[in-house]
Amino acid sequence: MVQRHGVALNVVMLGPPGAGKGTQAERFAQRHRLPKISTGDILREAVQEDTGLGRIAKATMDAGNLVGDEVMIGIVSGRLTRDDAKSGFVLDGFPRTVVQAGALDQMMTGRGPLVVVDIVVPEDVLVRRLAARRICGECGSNALVEWTTNCGKCGGVLVQRTDDGDGIVRERLKVYHLQTKPLVDYYSGRPTFRTIDGNQPPDIVTASLDRAICGASTLADGARL
Ligand code: AMP
Repeated sequence: MVQRHGVALNVVMLGPPGAGKGTQAERFAQRHRLPKISTGDILREAVQEDTGLGRIAKATMDAGNLVGDEVMIGIVSGRLTRDDAKSGFVLDGFPRTVVQAGALDQMMTGRGPLVVVDIVVPEDVLVRRLAARRICGECGSNALVEWTTNCGKCGGVLVQRTDDGDGIVRERLKVYHLQTKPLVDYYSGRPTFRTIDGNQPPDIVTASLDRAICGASTLADGARL
C-alpha cells in the first residue's frame, strides 16, 4: 500500500465501456484501502431502489446515453466530502464529459494531485467483452459466466446488464467516442496522466496499473503538483 506522507492518492480511471475500469478500480482501491466511487454503481443502486435519482436515470441509462452533468457533478461532489475520501479515492466512470472534468478540477482544490489513467482496449475486443459480461442480480458484482450461472460472492443469479444488449452497446461506444474520449486530450498534457494497455490478462493489467499510478503519484508528490 502506498503511504504518501499525508498526501492523498486521488485516482481517475478513464476508458471505454468494457475496458475493465470497474474491475481494476476495485482491485486498486482494495489494495490501497481507498474508497472506489463508481457512478454507474451509484446509479444502478438508485434504479434498483427506485429512488428519485433512479427514476431520473433509468431511461437514459437503458438508452445508453449519459445522465446530465449537473446531476452527476452533484453526486460526486457530495460523495467526495465524506470522511473515507479524505485520504484519496478511485473514481470509476466519472468524469465522462469535459464539463464534469472541469468540475472535478474545482472539487480537487486543496486535495492533492489527481492521477489519471486511461485503459486502452481495441473496439472489437470491447464489443466481445460486453456481450459476454454478466453481473449478479442480487449484489451487482461483475462475474465470469464460463463456469457458473451464480455469483461467487453471494450466490445470486447472474444477469446481463440492461445496457449491455447488442444495439445499446453500439450506442454506448458512440457516446464514449463523442463525449468521453475528448478527456484524453483534456488530461494528456499533465505529468500525472498515464496510458495502460487493457488488452491483456486482468492480473497483468492490475500490475501495470499499480506501477503507473504509484509512479505518477510519487512524481506528483515530489513536484508538489
Ligand atoms: P457504467 O457502469 O460506468 O458503464 O455506467 C452505466 C451508465 O450510467 C452509463 O451508460 C450512463 O448512462 C450512466 N453514467 C455513469 N456514470 C456517468 C457519468 N459520469 N455521467 C453521465 N452518465 C453516467
